[in-house]
Amino acid sequence: MKVPFLDLSLQHKALREPALAALAATYDATRFCLGKDVEDFEKGFAAALGYPAVLGMNSGTAPLHVACMMAGFGPGDEIITAPFTFISSAWGINYVGARPVFADIEEGTFNLDPAKVAAAVTPRTKGIIAVHLFGQPARMDEIMAIAKQHNLFVIEDCAQAVGARYQGTPVGLLGDVGTFSFYPTKNLGGCGEGGALVTRRPELHTRARHIRVHGSDRRYYHDIVGGNFRMDGFQGALLNVKLPHLAGWTRRRQAIAGRYLREIRLADVRLPDQPSYGQSVFHQFTIRHPQRDALREHLTRREVGTDLIYPVPLHLQKCYGYLGYGPGSFPVSERSAANCVSLPIFPELTDAQVDHVIASVNAF
Ligand SMILES: *Cc1c(COP(=O)(O)O)cnc(C)c1O
Repeated sequence: MKVPFLDLSLQHKALREPALAALAATYDATRFCLGKDVEDFEKGFAAALGYPAVLGMNSGTAPLHVACMMAGFGPGDEIITAPFTFISSAWGINYVGARPVFADIEEGTFNLDPAKVAAAVTPRTKGIIAVHLFGQPARMDEIMAIAKQHNLFVIEDCAQAVGARYQGTPVGLLGDVGTFSFYPTKNLGGCGEGGALVTRRPELHTRARHIRVHGSDRRYYHDIVGGNFRMDGFQGALLNVKLPHLAGWTRRRQAIAGRYLREIRLADVRLPDQPSYGQSVFHQFTIRHPQRDALREHLTRREVGTDLIYPVPLHLQKCYGYLGYGPGSFPVSERSAANCVSLPIFPELTDAQVDHVIASVNAF
């Protein structure tokens, strides 16, 4: 039996007719940049997931960039984030001329270790970017306590955690700003690029709204420096078609993860911890094993697709050589990169395919 790591064609085949009808309506109305479809999506997303307001943007990197602009980070400032994440979590720091400072993750959840964050704070520290990696919320109580003590601006990278809650609060509302991605492979994926920004602080929402459209509230009057971070109308229209399915897709991911957690039994395997403060939405299901490469080859032979997410932590990427870190700087991140392998976890997987993944892992 073949189990692809991810097959986006199934979801898109199922939604082909409503998706094309929505695109046609947007095309005919020439609603190409922001506009009614994007506004409807912003309102729908806010209502479905519990946000006061949402701003649609043109990628998941965009709101991270905008958040760093809103925070006023700049040259000489240090912003702490995790080295075990997608590179985009850190890009915004560079875009505003500030310096990424990494703090290691905890073994159990792949998320920032609050003790390591506290140890990384210097007089130049201005902010923290907490990533809710693989759909699992980070330890926000501890992170916010550090932020409060040192007056730091907190950005939550929720790109992989749409729908996740931390002690009942939707991710993105715990810090100052939360950011989402609708890249096609995300839990809520568009047909192209997309992202969003949320904040519990109304004055920051207004500021982000202006930055999104060239620093402008009134056409051709620019009170602050902004950019072009607008979501396009087609993405808004497509996301409106997909949004009603998100809750069901998330439950299916959680059900598959529940089976993996209960039924994978393999010596030396490390399954991800499920702390009681939050509920993961399982963007990935990533396990660790000391013989990761051999395990992966074994799964490939049994036609189980896997991926390495992430093979190289950020502090060992060439682009961040100038920061002066090296092997050994962040042992938990390095060990995770060396030992991790991600298993198939998308809503359209059949129960028989899930059986096959579990049996194949257990047969290693
Ligand atoms: C996908 C992702 C982003 C944003 O990526 P885009 O490709 O710009 O949408 C940011 N952070 C993390 C952790 C991600 O997984």
